[in-house]
Amino acid sequence: MIVMKFGGTSVGSAKEIKRVVELVSNEKGDRVVVVSAMSGVTNSLLAAANKVIELPSGVVEKEVNKFHKEMLDKHVSTAEEVIADKKVLGEVREEIEKLAEELKVALLGVGYLEELSPKSLDYVVSFGERFSILLVSGALNAAGIKAKALTGHEAGIVTDSNFGRARPLHSTMENSVRERVGPVVAEGIVAVVAGFIAADKDANTTTMGRGGSDYTASLLGRCLSAKEVQIWTDVDGILSTDPKIVPEARLIKTLSYVEAMDLAYFGAKVIHSKMIAPAMDADIPVRIKNTFNPGSEGTLIVREQEKIETVIKAVAVHRNVDIVNLKGIGMAETPNIAGKVFTLLGDENINIIMISGSSESNLSFVLERKDVPKAVERLNERFLGNGVRNIDLMEGVCIITIVGVGMHGAKGIAARVFQAVSDEDVNIIMIAQGSSEVNISFIVEEKDGDRVVKALHKKFIEG
Ligand code: ADP
Ligand code: ASP
Ligand code: MG
Repeated sequence: MIVMKFGGTSVGSAKEIKRVVELVSNEKGDRVVVVSAMSGVTNSLLAAANKVIELPSGVVEKEVNKFHKEMLDKHVSTAEEVIADKKVLGEVREEIEKLAEELKVALLGVGYLEELSPKSLDYVVSFGERFSILLVSGALNAAGIKAKALTGHEAGIVTDSNFGRARPLHSTMENSVRERVGPVVAEGIVAVVAGFIAADKDANTTTMGRGGSDYTASLLGRCLSAKEVQIWTDVDGILSTDPKIVPEARLIKTLSYVEAMDLAYFGAKVIHSKMIAPAMDADIPVRIKNTFNPGSEGTLIVREQEKIETVIKAVAVHRNVDIVNLKGIGMAETPNIAGKVFTLLGDENINIIMISGSSESNLSFVLERKDVPKAVERLNERFLGNGVRNIDLMEGVCIITIVGVGMHGAKGIAARVFQAVSDEDVNIIMIAQGSSEVNISFIVEEKDGDRVVKALHKKFIEG
């Protein structure tokens, strides 16, 4: 059995969905298909929810009706184009109308109550994938390939109740996924599962973080002992950097799990970093393929680490982060201050992306920009005047990461990298290298990010 995951652009319009049908029909064995929302839909849902809570109650209904019509038209018109069979189309249209109505009720509730909890937001954003599974399963059925649409909940994916960043409950879901998806596949039916969304133990809808459909694919792969997990996207595979920054970026044919995870964690959004662990645990190869250029061999992610001549395989940039600095001589006298700070942030479900070597009177770390206001508020409450004299921020930075197993044991790489950055007249604000020696990360001002990526790519990969 293989898992084939199609991202937002791969199901972005009728033309693309027809391609997906072709790609799925080319695979002859058992298939589980995971789909994202049509491209742009998750963002629209987020924007709509955030807009309606701000509106005066007199205009909520008008705005919600407008959005309801937009979502309904988009998905119904796509269904009409991809589903030739009248009967199938009629059924899918009915399901879409029902869903759109549910979405409308949810948004009206948000608008009138002026309340948007993380739980309600997850419920609202889940509609993107709930619509797209109907389109893809409908298109497959109409093309004579038996398919069944399943939400994350229906597929047995169980998470905790950390809405917006829910974590799978592995031991629970292992059985539920097998029980729910297994029989579908055993009957020769293609299971079309909604990526990104799941449910907690009380059946509340949860989401597993932006870009989380990749994670759904590898979780299903592990629970169902898949032979391979395929990520179908809009580029040829994992490239030596984001082609939107360097059009000459090269395809990387093989990567180890660790390299791929580091690259994704530090900004190569072509795959979600969390998707690697389940695949790695079960030794399932992950293949990244281009929906728009299926002839290209893509990238294969496996356990073995392949050292290549160039030492550095890829460069990534992670934007939208800020540095938080805690300072104070008193920190030296506060036992385990770092532990307390990180526990506090962990309890708030805030992820620390990078930590710099701290002195006794200084602790610096990097957070996603969206988490910073809450982090600073909680840190101020708890630590200001309590060992910490000052909490300040360095905003508008980005993390640059170079990745390659060839760096392990190679001397002088860091020096050459930092020299190249300095040749660009760019200041390095903070540095970190993990003990795996598979990556080196450092921070520069966000405005310099693209320039540094281009320079490093030119020197170490093209050169
Ligand atoms: P999908 O909707 O299929 O999940 P994403 O937009 O999440 O696709 O990821 C694909 C995008 O990732 C590409 O269009 C590309 O701009 C970006 N990207 C960033 N870094 C890399 C990289 N190193 N290799 C390939 N793509 C990258
Ligand atoms: N639709 C979700 C998002 O836009 C999940 C995904 O695309 O993987 O983040
Ligand atoms: Mg993605």
